[in-house]
Amino acid sequence: MYNNANSKGSNKGDNSDSYRDKLYKIYGEFLEILYPQNINCILCSRPIKKSNSYSMCKSCFDELNFILNGCGKCGKFKINYSLEKQFIDECNFCHSKTFYFEKAISCIEYNDISKRLILGLKYSSKTYMCKYIAQIMKEKLDIENIKFDYLTYVPLHKKRLKKRGFNQSEKIAKYLVKLIDVPLIDLVVRHKYTEMLYKLKRDERSKELKNAFKINEEINIGNVEDKVVLLLDDVFTTGSTVNEISKVLKLAGVGKVYVITLLTKSSEKYVKDDAL
Ligand SMILES: [Zn+2]
Ligand SMILES: [Zn+2]
Repeated sequence: MYNNANSKGSNKGDNSDSYRDKLYKIYGEFLEILYPQNINCILCSRPIKKSNSYSMCKSCFDELNFILNGCGKCGKFKINYSLEKQFIDECNFCHSKTFYFEKAISCIEYNDISKRLILGLKYSSKTYMCKYIAQIMKEKLDIENIKFDYLTYVPLHKKRLKKRGFNQSEKIAKYLVKLIDVPLIDLVVRHKYTEMLYKLKRDERSKELKNAFKINEEINIGNVEDKVVLLLDDVFTTGSTVNEISKVLKLAGVGKVYVITLLTKSSEKYVKDDAL
């Protein structure tokens, strides 16, 4: 309707296009009020009752593997092969690795359904999903009983931020601080433009991320000295990104760093992928 009205106007070139974009945005907001997102499953768009958990239909919800007894070090889904291994607080993925963070926790195992939570948010701008993701994270933090003084998030490089229009981790963090009584702080900036990491193998990721982050000069770093910081990201794959940031934080005097991500790739799957 707006497109037609607009096309009847004079040919204003770029101005006309940006006007149409503005109207389209308003129209989108208007639709959202008329048809709130929580009457459809946020993952498959099937109609659901408003009371459904996290606004998902039952079949999508059943496909999500919530991690209850994750690895005490990297947070990945833990599979015990022998009785002996059950007493070691690490998994096949991380047993020979050392991290700068104290512990990482993840809420859900990465699979074809759960990845839609992040893909929809990142590439289809379904930013309302942040609200549900923050809720899932809040429940995980309660279960794990992790206490921290500040919340921060994995920053995007300004070039990527400009392209995407928002940082999904920052948006989730903003919703999360509404649910917990902890301040959000922009602790780190990404000053090196890195390749899309999913294309790289683990050792290549670490190399690519070296010196990619630094402390945000606009904050008073003295405030976080010896404090406990929770670092938020969307997906934990190899842990290279959160590890590199944890290193920067520790060198700046932060006492402890915990990591929370919504999704984590299973260590089994990861090992298999890596071997291919
Ligand atoms: Zn669904
Ligand atoms: Zn582990």
